[in-house]
Amino acid sequence: MGYGVRLLEEKKRIVDELKRVVGEEGFSRAKNDHHAKRSPRPCGMTIHTAVGCRYRCVYCYIYDMGFPGTVSRYPLQPLELALALALNPYVVPRATFAAYGAVTEPFVEEVRWYSVEVIQTVNEYLALPSQVSTKSVIDDALAQALRNAEPRISVLVTLVTIDRWKELEPYAPNPIERIEGMATARRHGLHVTLFLRPLIPTVIEREAGKLLKMVADAGIDKVVLGTLRVTPSILARLRAAGVGIEEIERRLPRKPRSRNDQVTIRGSDIKKIVAKIAQDYGFKVFESACAANVDAHGEFCSICDFGPCGVKSAAPPCNENDVRDLIEYLGYIAKDVDVYENRIRVVLRAGDKRRLRYIIEAVYRRRVEIV
Ligand code: SF4
Ligand code: SF4
Repeated sequence: MGYGVRLLEEKKRIVDELKRVVGEEGFSRAKNDHHAKRSPRPCGMTIHTAVGCRYRCVYCYIYDMGFPGTVSRYPLQPLELALALALNPYVVPRATFAAYGAVTEPFVEEVRWYSVEVIQTVNEYLALPSQVSTKSVIDDALAQALRNAEPRISVLVTLVTIDRWKELEPYAPNPIERIEGMATARRHGLHVTLFLRPLIPTVIEREAGKLLKMVADAGIDKVVLGTLRVTPSILARLRAAGVGIEEIERRLPRKPRSRNDQVTIRGSDIKKIVAKIAQDYGFKVFESACAANVDAHGEFCSICDFGPCGVKSAAPPCNENDVRDLIEYLGYIAKDVDVYENRIRVVLRAGDKRRLRYIIEAVYRRRVEIV
């Protein structure tokens, strides 16, 4: 049995086991939950441990997506959430990247221990290489709990500004305390990366040097940089907070078309400048959060142009027969399969191309072309 088929057989066993543990009602809740249906985002499968966020950062897009400015625990039990993920047709145990904290703050007090329990349960059953992004202050108890829940989890601590925190992130913890929390997490042996995003033009240029120095002084040497995305209300809130909005508007490739239309501004020049400062302070600069995740888990990935990332010797085993077996196991028919160093090409006769691409990419961590 090839590597890919082994993982899919494991997926079946996990579903059976979790179904037995959660019972009929739990199964019904898991099956109908969106975690059982959504396809992964570029950073991986996003796992929501809460609904809404009360930090209300002015540049945040979740409110335009309809999420509330309050926070409540996600309604599923951790085992049900793990089952929902196991049932998801795009998720492969040990292979699919997972991301906590995409549309909420996972470690705010109200949901902190629930989030840790979900991380632990998902790791125990599915062992998805995971990342968590947070603006909370990581104390000893949280760091130790995370270390127990998923020892190699990639912890991304978000900072955007030091000087303008009160205007831009009025309800989030003090950034100086967040930096202290990064040092605490690192002391507990966690893989900690600065998540410097969004890079807000006219704010970050003034602060990058100071901010990066403070984080470097705390013993952190990895950073992910991310560009600003705006909607009409984010632009309005930034303006109200006194940010130089003209510069942001100048960088828009087009105007947002609706309330929830998120437009990423042009920011590669700023990214380059900040990356250079970071490198001068000794930071390893990751092109995206999944690259930090791969680094944290000692894995390898060459799915996109930013890569290859990680350790080449950790690349999953792959040959044509393996990939063919996987395709047949899924009930699809391949006419031709070619495996190259960092790429797989499949000529498919019948089957769901989109799903197949996600699965082959996750399993073999190579770019996949399906024709
Ligand atoms: S902490 Fe994250 S989810 Fe919460 S408001 Fe800020 S950016 Fe949005
Ligand atoms: S190659 Fe690197 S950046 Fe691209 S998907 Fe893989 S880990 Fe992420």
